[in-house]
Amino acid sequence: MEFVAAHDLDEALAAKAEQPDAELLAGGTDLMVEVNLVHHRPEQVVSLRRIAELGDVSPRRIGAGVTWSRLEHGDHRGLAEAARTVGSPQIRAAGTIGGNVGTASPAGDGLPWIAAADAAIEVQSKARGPRVVPWRDFFVGVKRTSLEPDEIITAVIVPEDVPEAQEFAKVGARNAMVISTVSCLVMRGDDGFRIALGSVAPTPIRAAAAEEMLNAESTITEAALDEVARIVSEEVRPITDHRSTEAYRRHAAGVLARRLVERSLR
Ligand SMILES: Cc1cc2nc3c(=O)[nH]c(=O)nc-3n(C[C@H](O)[C@H](O)[C@H](O)COP(=O)(O)OP(=O)(O)OC[C@H]3O[C@@H](n4cnc5c(N)ncnc54)[C@H](O)[C@@H]3O)c2cc1C
Repeated sequence: MEFVAAHDLDEALAAKAEQPDAELLAGGTDLMVEVNLVHHRPEQVVSLRRIAELGDVSPRRIGAGVTWSRLEHGDHRGLAEAARTVGSPQIRAAGTIGGNVGTASPAGDGLPWIAAADAAIEVQSKARGPRVVPWRDFFVGVKRTSLEPDEIITAVIVPEDVPEAQEFAKVGARNAMVISTVSCLVMRGDDGFRIALGSVAPTPIRAAAAEEMLNAESTITEAALDEVARIVSEEVRPITDHRSTEAYRRHAAGVLARRLVERSLR
């Protein structure tokens, strides 16, 4: 295995331009599981860990190399709540938002926040420079993104109008160190409610019909909350797999969305 520890972004972009098949390594908490368990042996690895600029963070721009342990104390409440649920302290100290986006697992706990915020993914290549991809165009399937082979994710770009009221919750097989069976992120702002979900479709999704129904209500009654749960359960597109059944995921998605909408009203 050939290993390049890039010192800055230019060096990493040059290495990726030369060897587009090279695997990128950030915290390694997804990649090394693949290497160890799935016996995936990349021929070339480009490590991004020493690239200081990927660790820059501001309210509108979150560098790809920012770790979960930093996001736990970040500006965005919902992302901080999600960060606190990721793995263990050791995983949060190493794992990055860029790695979560790069893996693009339906269960990635950072992805519902990105969808609710209507955030975009900034990527760069040596040949074409930077481009900013809306999240809906970036996540294209289970663990599939529109990232080109010579590109590196450099940041998550956060729009200015992200509501401050944000609530995240996830359901899993146990309380801690657990991959989401269903996750949900609700935001409430001047433009109304936003509801995003993870682990219930190949990519993170927004519950558009439930949002539309809620945003047409002048006051949120118990009946409206029940209706949100019903619509979300119908809107999601989960599968049955080793973590859960389709039926349970539908039910849990509705319960989580209802609970978080209610919480965001307090
Ligand atoms: C015990 C354990 C518990 C976990 N718990 C959770 C959990 O609760 N919630 C959750 O969401 N995840 C969880 N994970 C998964 C993992 O920790 C996260 O997805 C993490 O954010 C991955 O980040 P990383 O920096 O370690 O990525 P890496 O493993 O370094 O990389 C992951 C993938 O993204 C690519 N990549 C990394 N950085 C970039 C970049 N800048 N540009 C382009 N591609 C890039 C890599 O090539 C690789 O394909 C867990 C993992 C373990 C081992």
